[in-house]
Amino acid sequence: MTGKIGTVPIFQLVSCLDGYDPDALHVEKAREAMRACIAPISETETLPIREALGRVLVQEIVPRINVPAHDNSAMDGYAVRHADIAQPLSEIGTALAGKPFAGTVGPGQCVRIMTGAVMPAGTDTVVIQEVVKRDGNRIVVPPGQKRAQNVRYAGEDLKVGVPVLKPGKLLRPAELGLIASLGIGEVRVMRKLRVAFFSTGDELASIGSALKEGEVYDSNRYTLHGMLARLGVEITDLGVVRDDPAALEAALGKAAKADAIVTTGGVSVGEADFIKQLMAKLGEVLFWKIAMRPGRPMAFGRIGSAWLFGLPGNPVAVMVTFYQFVRDALLHLSGRTDDYAIALLRATAADNIRKVPGRTEYQRGIAFREAGEWKVRTTGQQGSGVLRSMAEANCFIVLEHERGAVKAGEQVQVQLMEGVA
Ligand code: AMP
Ligand code: MG
Repeated sequence: MTGKIGTVPIFQLVSCLDGYDPDALHVEKAREAMRACIAPISETETLPIREALGRVLVQEIVPRINVPAHDNSAMDGYAVRHADIAQPLSEIGTALAGKPFAGTVGPGQCVRIMTGAVMPAGTDTVVIQEVVKRDGNRIVVPPGQKRAQNVRYAGEDLKVGVPVLKPGKLLRPAELGLIASLGIGEVRVMRKLRVAFFSTGDELASIGSALKEGEVYDSNRYTLHGMLARLGVEITDLGVVRDDPAALEAALGKAAKADAIVTTGGVSVGEADFIKQLMAKLGEVLFWKIAMRPGRPMAFGRIGSAWLFGLPGNPVAVMVTFYQFVRDALLHLSGRTDDYAIALLRATAADNIRKVPGRTEYQRGIAFREAGEWKVRTTGQQGSGVLRSMAEANCFIVLEHERGAVKAGEQVQVQLMEGVA
């Protein structure tokens, strides 16, 4: 149903990547491995542009008209012939946005013009109204006006025949407006991805039931729901599944109808064995130890035609592995070809940060401005079960694989969690 790489075993695809080591996989390598396996979906649909917000463009957008369609004024003022402005000019009419001046402006003449109005025939320059002296319909222009100033030219924004949007681009509000400015009302986009997810664990209680001894409320399904919803995918929530082979097999069977399956829990060393057997029976799944913190164990593979992302159980590890891997893999699967990597920005560490070389760390941070400079501190306790660290954070502090302890004042990389969309 989707354009997946048919029958080539995943293992074969990833093991030829340089430096592939499933027991100490660098984060970049894990991302690369997922991309190497996953081919984008191919089904498309045509939507009215409003509904295409957040979708992936399939067609190339090539203007059939210039935008703006005519040379027009960028300011309120007077449309003049630059060669004539040393002498007083006589005002012979008005040009408004949507109401052009019908005649031609001759020597010694000018036209009152408003922003967006078409440049009257014969004129080449706009002088802003604030600087002219006016006496009846005689207009005196001060010296120092540049030829062609305050004129917006036809095609300055978009030119006939010059492609402006490429297939694979995310449609944001700006793109919708741009498409609308060309008079186009519908666009061809990728269909939405379908993603199914569930939590695993005998200790999980659902909201509404009282906690028994040793139980925790299932929070992963809520963070996952939120993260998936923001990606704009169609979501199927399959609930909590017990650590029981038959229950897991049934859940995976249902989930495999989707394009991708996200599970949490059950991939840590103590639990992985029975899951491994089950996965081997149902599809092909690799179990990785990623050189990162939080989020070391992770499973990636295929169940039927669905991609499987088996995330760790710890709530912070779920969010970090989602943002660092699942997001990237799903956007690739959705057909995006624009740059969707989360930007890495520089900030100054406000305090010392503990870190050991040999793994990439995603510490939760609070970025703030001080004396005109971006600084960052951690949210404190960094345990992979401390979801509060995510709720308090506005960024990840990304500490590179090779890096050791960070001293206050050193530069670190951060990924902001919110931005202009
Ligand atoms: P696991 O990876 O299954 O060994 O789980 C690791 C830790 O994460 C355990 O302390 C679990 O109780 C916790 N955990 C697993 N799943 C969830 C969940 N859905 N919500 C909250 N905590 C969870
Ligand atoms: Mg578990």
